[in-house]
Amino acid sequence: MKKQSIKKHLQSYSIYGKRKSTLAHAFASALSVADTYEETKIDNAIKLLGQDPSQDLVCVYCGRSAKTWDHIMAIVKEGRFSGYGHQVGNLVPCCNECNSDKGNKDWKTFLITKNPNEATNLIMINRIHEYIKSNTTQFKELLDDDIKNEIEKFENIKQQVFELLKAGDQQAKIIRGKLKYKSKNKTFTQDGLEQGDSIFQIEPIFKEKRQTKPELIPFVSKKTKVNNNETNKESQEIEKVEKRVPKWFKNPDQFNSQILISFMELQGKKGFVNLIDLEKACSGIKTFKPNFDAMKNITPHNSGKVFHENEKNEITLWGLVEEFVMMEYNKYLRKG
Ligand SMILES: [Zn+2]
Repeated sequence: MKKQSIKKHLQSYSIYGKRKSTLAHAFASALSVADTYEETKIDNAIKLLGQDPSQDLVCVYCGRSAKTWDHIMAIVKEGRFSGYGHQVGNLVPCCNECNSDKGNKDWKTFLITKNPNEATNLIMINRIHEYIKSNTTQFKELLDDDIKNEIEKFENIKQQVFELLKAGDQQAKIIRGKLKYKSKNKTFTQDGLEQGDSIFQIEPIFKEKRQTKPELIPFVSKKTKVNNNETNKESQEIEKVEKRVPKWFKNPDQFNSQILISFMELQGKKGFVNLIDLEKACSGIKTFKPNFDAMKNITPHNSGKVFHENEKNEITLWGLVEEFVMMEYNKYLRKG
């Protein structure tokens, strides 16, 4: 193993990024109408496959002993319910190997690749066709306006769950930013490796506000915004910075770009930056003061807060976006 392989463990995790497809699959599965187990119905279905229902079943694709049931058609298509799911007509006996090999491939194409004998393939294809036809309800033909409306509500709930995951990611980012920022100004005495309770098992600050149930999100319209509370200014600020800073580095002639680049260069050279140095470095910019203020203060029409200035007029990158700005600056340097 090479040392560089540690890199993939040193990345921040995204709840939405990592779990979106799992959740889309869960939502789709929840829409699928399941057949009930009826012995005679199953017996008749298995006979259509040319197998004896009283014996151990074999894989329809390769003929070896079956270990699982393959979904002929995938439950999820383009992130939504495909219409095929937990019905007998969508489940065929299958060995583990074929099950994982087939994935989302078309069943007919897959069957042919498994078996060189054209004649037996043809028999099997006909059998599976008959099996699907006799045991599948075509739900698409049942969709009237009422059900379509219910599905739209369902999609809306899914969207809200996604929005909440994104809000969770945003909040996690703020916490990571604050922890990282604080960690730079502190020396640690303990090795930090004691076993015990989670360090994040904290007592809630506002006990009286604790709710037993999460607040329900009202069903509004297709594009429901969960996080429309104006209170989370920091999170909005981070979003603003993530949108604008890459543009500044792409257009280094803009005043904001010049100020930020001058700051980064001064910091690189001296290790710290104060207001006088930065003003001097930006002497060519007539509107330095208003530009700089808009990069330092949180106001509705600022440029996105990237700087923090303390009472001694020392300037640093704002802790919550520091990591992001450094990353973008490194990209800019690499491009030359
Ligand atoms: Zn098989």
